[in-house]
Amino acid sequence: MKDDSNRLALLPLLLPAYGALLDAFAAQGVDWVQIDEPALVTELDPAWQKAFVDAYAALETRRVKLLLTTYFGQLKDNLDLACRLPVDGLHVDAINARDEIDVIESRLPETSVLSVGVIDGRNIWKTDLGAALGWLEPLHRSRGDRLWIAPSCSLLHTPVDLDSEDRLDADIRSWLAFALQKIDELTVLAGALNEGRASVADALADNAAAIESRRVSPRVHNPSVKAAIARIDAKTAERASAYPQRERKQAVILKLPAYPTTTIGSFPQTPEIRRARSQYKSGELGRAGYESAMQREIARAVQEQEALGLDVLVHGEAERNDMVEYFGEQLDGYAFSQFGWVQSYGSRCVKPPILFGDISRPKAMTVEWTRYAQSLTTKPMKGMLTGPVTILNWSFVRDDQPRPVSCRQLALAIREEVLDLERAGVKVIQIDEAALREGLPLRKSLWDEYLQWAVESFRIAANGVQDETQIHTHMCYSEFNDIIASIADMDADVITIETSRSEMELLDAFDDFEYPNQIGPGVYDIHSPNIPTQEHIVSLMRKAAERIPRERLWVNPDCGLKTRAWEEVIPALRNMVAAAHALRREG
Ligand code: GLN
Ligand code: ZN
Repeated sequence: MKDDSNRLALLPLLLPAYGALLDAFAAQGVDWVQIDEPALVTELDPAWQKAFVDAYAALETRRVKLLLTTYFGQLKDNLDLACRLPVDGLHVDAINARDEIDVIESRLPETSVLSVGVIDGRNIWKTDLGAALGWLEPLHRSRGDRLWIAPSCSLLHTPVDLDSEDRLDADIRSWLAFALQKIDELTVLAGALNEGRASVADALADNAAAIESRRVSPRVHNPSVKAAIARIDAKTAERASAYPQRERKQAVILKLPAYPTTTIGSFPQTPEIRRARSQYKSGELGRAGYESAMQREIARAVQEQEALGLDVLVHGEAERNDMVEYFGEQLDGYAFSQFGWVQSYGSRCVKPPILFGDISRPKAMTVEWTRYAQSLTTKPMKGMLTGPVTILNWSFVRDDQPRPVSCRQLALAIREEVLDLERAGVKVIQIDEAALREGLPLRKSLWDEYLQWAVESFRIAANGVQDETQIHTHMCYSEFNDIIASIADMDADVITIETSRSEMELLDAFDDFEYPNQIGPGVYDIHSPNIPTQEHIVSLMRKAAERIPRERLWVNPDCGLKTRAWEEVIPALRNMVAAAHALRREG
């Protein structure tokens, strides 16, 4: 948060507006108003803590009751503050802050409502109702009807209705609860608290059976995966040699010019690709027909790249519906909903795959496509994988083991794929970690822990290869200042990032931190239909060369090209290649 002081200066102006709004609610006969303050689960300096005191003092005299609502984390240092604010109730996320509930109960005024978020609002698993009642019942005895129960947060993060999922495997389905089922769970809990467990005995028994079936299911627990995880040691995550040695060996093999050119993976997803995919899904097109349709697209992508004169080619990802789903569909331990859409941002929705069990890879997932693409060219063909952290962050993840454990399992599966690609003769392998930043906890003090296991998972996936194999990674942003040391720790030989929209300003992170390996700062904003000129690309790369030695620079777009049309992509890449030539001539 930059400029905190200025922001706080705006608070006195905002409060009268809140006051007027609350009065308007009161005039409409509204009794309770929920005010969301998830900021209370982040570190607040004294000025911000005082701002809470001032703000709620100013709203205290209003005629509605206020439910101060926190979620996504623990209150920690703000716990006393939250309990002391002059409001009528406090909502706490008992999924993330279960340990704080008893202290809050003892510090919150007796007259206040304590609303406990007992149902996970961000995930899709059934709640263990018996376990929840175990700690809710004493709380209910002490707080009586001033104990409320609720989901931990808004249900915006879960799909609407499990009842529409008629294709989900019956076992897995029995372990899940979407938004409507979560409301049913609350009703059962309320019944048990108010009328006694016997009043909802059937529902509780069904729930207990489902929880138990998931706990012991061989679908969830795979001893050989657990054994493989136990075998991970420090060496698993280490390359054999340090970067400078690897770089020399890779240079001999790849023989790349200065300012090598490449793209981030996908080429336009044309109407033909989409048609073939939907015909294949509906059974109209057989496997062989689908494969040859995809091969035609791959061949086209290779031809275009050859004609453009790019240095490191890609197969174009025609066969991938989505960079996470594609892998999830081929891994054991994943299930897919039909209608499980949730909002991602704005009007964009996603349907996250469901990581329900120990993850393993029954067979190679990308090798055949990559091998085919490589057979069409003598230029290096870059193998293309999604990294474990991104797969994890874009899935609904099982809640019966810590996330880092699930991430490691994904890392081992991707590692096997990396090694299979290497065995198939692929010399350059890119492991995308588009969503690494998205997993950062709200609280800064927890960042290190997350970054530590996230980076380690990437390293487990990537670092089993020979020195000669060049590992790339890609991230769709470059707000790096605060995590640059961790990014360097990933130890990828090459990283490509999004920088063109900020005109390379985002490379500021590299002023103070000397990034040791190679970097491709994006020079083509793929979110826009604009075609960058050769001159513009050259000027961007010159700016990059002020911060990063030119020997370590690559020339590439910001991200994958799947949302663009070939008519845009070809002239843009032509200018990009011409720019690289011009930069080479400059020396
Ligand atoms: N390799 C992926 C692609 O090119 C990367 C996408 C992403 O970073 N979001 O589409
Ligand atoms: Zn990207």
